[in-house]
This record gives sequence, structure tokens and C-alpha cells, in this order.
Amino acid sequence: MAGVFRYSDDNKRFHSYSYYLKKRFGRKVYKVPLNLDLGCPNRDGTKGVGGCAFCSAKAGGDFAGDPMKSLEEQFDGVRAVMAGKWPGGLCIPYFQAGSNTYGDTELLETVFERAMALDNAVGLSIATRADCIDKDKAEMLGRLARRTFLTVELGLQTVHDETAAAMNRCHTYRDFLKAYELLRAQGVDLCVHIINGLPGEDREMMLCTAETVGALDIFEMKIHLLHVLKGTALEKMYERGEFRTLEREEYIGIVCDQLELIPAEVVIGRLTGDGDRTELVAPMWSRDKRRVLNGIDMELARRGTWQGFRLCQGGGIDKGQKM
Ligand code: SF4
Repeated sequence: MAGVFRYSDDNKRFHSYSYYLKKRFGRKVYKVPLNLDLGCPNRDGTKGVGGCAFCSAKAGGDFAGDPMKSLEEQFDGVRAVMAGKWPGGLCIPYFQAGSNTYGDTELLETVFERAMALDNAVGLSIATRADCIDKDKAEMLGRLARRTFLTVELGLQTVHDETAAAMNRCHTYRDFLKAYELLRAQGVDLCVHIINGLPGEDREMMLCTAETVGALDIFEMKIHLLHVLKGTALEKMYERGEFRTLEREEYIGIVCDQLELIPAEVVIGRLTGDGDRTELVAPMWSRDKRRVLNGIDMELARRGTWQGFRLCQGGGIDKGQKM
């Protein structure tokens, strides 16, 4: 079925990461999570202690590699599974867990170069905190960006400083903008993470975050649903009844509203959370990810809208519709 949206070959009405990769590389590209175990300045006391209220002790992902193994061993383990699933596929080493620019710049550059040299690697994804980017780090990442398809992922979560403070993020939107400017000055492509359902935020605040971030010069955005995970500060807040989690239909509506406010050119890397199912406290409906994603597709089709739809009133911005 031909799609109605410019950056889609199917029923998707948003610019998916898989569509982008297919157009750019012409075949399956998958990410290989690697774990450097560099820790996080918001856990070790450099910026804060205890970490972000929603972050589990695993600090950054359930699919991260085993840091006790070398980069190459971690890579081989995942590749063995992926290559069976997608023979001939290409891959992107993905430093996902923790803050992956929190360390010595020269050493990091060596490690990232080793990752670029891994078999069939066509790019690199590096997740970090904005306050782990300084001029040296940005220049180092700029050097890598000139040699490979590099994406640096910055966890912002919200543009509202009062929410970030309540979540013990220990950095502000201004801190994020400093890193954004340093990295863009080096030509580094950015992926920005935002979270829907943070305590104290209403629909308008969530739309404001998506619209504000979408208006920046970014390559990609990842939209997450707030998960309450066992053993986190957020779980205690939830047990005390300090906030409620979003309902499925409510979340689908908010995401569709956000997509309509994000320029069609921005690649959408994620539209819901991917928390550890065994650690999940709420919302339990989020375990059925397929239903959430189908719900988003159906809601955009019902509305007859697509990513960037509400920006067309301003004129001059790509509406995303196929001509
Ligand atoms: S910055 Fe990331 S790794 Fe560090 S505590 Fe927050 S969510 Fe966890």
C-alpha cells in the first residue's frame, strides 16, 4: 500500500528510523548495544546522587552489553544472534547505557574508533548527558562524525526545568542547549529523548517540549512513555500517590498531537518506552507495545493528519504530504 506521508512507504504517517535507514543504506541495519560502564555523574556525586528519579539501578537500558567483556566480545555475542535473523545486514554499534562521554576524551576516541572498525559497522550511536559534553568532547565527536554516520543521543526528557528538578535530573534546559550548540557547531547529528507523563506535567507542557525540541536543528527524536520501575525514587512517589501514570488512549492522543508539531524531516526513533518488563510497576498496559504503536497509526489515520501537519499553517515548512 502506498503511504500518504512523504517519508513513508507504508501506512506510517511519521518519519520512522527504519524508513530512514532503509532509504540511506538500502538494506537492514540493526543496532548492537555495547556497554562501557562509564557510570553517570548524576549517580556518583559529581552532579548529583541517586540518579534521575525514574532511572533504575541498571542505569540506562535492559539490552546493554556485559561490561565485563571486551567491546569485541560484546559485539560478537549480539552479532551472532542478529546475523542469523538478518543475514547480510549492516550494523550500528550503540553505546546506550549510562553516560558515554563521561571519561577521558582521548581514551573515548580510541574506543569509539574500535567500534567503528567492527565488522559491517556503518555508523555509531552514542548516548550521553548534556553536561558530559564540553568543547573537547564536541570536537572529538565532530571528527568521528566526518568519518561515519554518527548520532549523539542526548537525554533531555523535558524543557521544563521545574519538572527536571523534581526528577533530580541535575541539569537544566540551558545546560542541554549548551551541549546542543557545541555539537551542532561540529556538525554532529543529534537525537533528543523526551518523556511523556512526568509528574506535574499536563498535556500542554508535553506538547511544548515536543514542539520546542522539534524546532531545533536535530536529526532524530525519541518519544518515551514514563515507566515506574521497581526500586526507583519514582516508585516511592507513585506509592505515595503523588502522581498518576498516563492511560493508553491518553498517551496515544498526546503522541499524535506531538507528531503533528514536529517537522516531517525529523526522524522518529521511538514512540513509546521500552522499560524492563520484569521491573515494571506501572503502567502495565505499556507491555503491549504493538497495541500502542498500532493505536498511534490508527489515530493519525482517523484524524487524517501526519507528522508536521500543524506546522503547515506557518507556511514554508514541509507539510510532509506526498504530492
Ligand atoms: S542521566 Fe541517565 S544514566 Fe544517569 S541517572 Fe539519569 S537516566 Fe540514569
